[in-house]
Amino acid sequence: MTNRQEKIIQIVKDHGPITGESIAEKLNLTRATLRPDLAILTMSGILDARPRVGYFYSGKSTIQAIGESIKKKKVNEYKSVPILIRDSSKVYDAICTMFLEDVGTLFVVNQDNRLVGVVSRKDLLRSAIGKQSLEDIPVSVIMTRMPNLILTYPDESLHDAASKMIQYQIDALPVVRVNEDQSDINPYEIIGRITKTNITRAYVELGNEEI
Ligand code: ADP
Repeated sequence: MTNRQEKIIQIVKDHGPITGESIAEKLNLTRATLRPDLAILTMSGILDARPRVGYFYSGKSTIQAIGESIKKKKVNEYKSVPILIRDSSKVYDAICTMFLEDVGTLFVVNQDNRLVGVVSRKDLLRSAIGKQSLEDIPVSVIMTRMPNLILTYPDESLHDAASKMIQYQIDALPVVRVNEDQSDINPYEIIGRITKTNITRAYVELGNEEI
């Protein structure tokens, strides 16, 4: 937080509710100069603003405000494109796809394009230890499958998705849309992926917000 933002918080604590105009006067600045600071402080939840009343201190600490800001981030805003392979593909093809697409996790789909499994680097390494030819083993044999898949949803918070990755010690989650049609045997349509990289990006963004 900048020195000026700290001063604004102090003024609002001491004199709130107070108009933007009055805060500006106390700091010998114009209202326009203060506008970005006031926007940051209200967006982060440290200050509240009411029309015709002015700014007042929300009582939230910076830490609480940061916590709220983290929990507002949704999976949908941060997801990336999922790299898919068919369940009938061979382990050899999965290895090539992983290198070509530069990812650590592949999502496996059936002929109806519905999610049926996940293949990670270690799954592929494990199958490479065996005696069977990698060109003969279908990925459906080595993948982690339903109902053991850990999923995330577009409107889930990024924080909850990150917690699942920690809890289950996995690097990636498929972002799925659940098809409401009851007759659908496999309702999971895959629309994205969340990996540790996405979480890291959100973390860096948060640091750049400087609040
Ligand atoms: P790595 O193999 O590179 O360590 P992970 O830690 O993500 O990658 O994978 C560990 C195990 O967890 C693998 O067997 C993988 O199939 C499985 N796995 C990975 N992602 C998921 C997921 N979203 N749901 C269930 N199992 C998963």
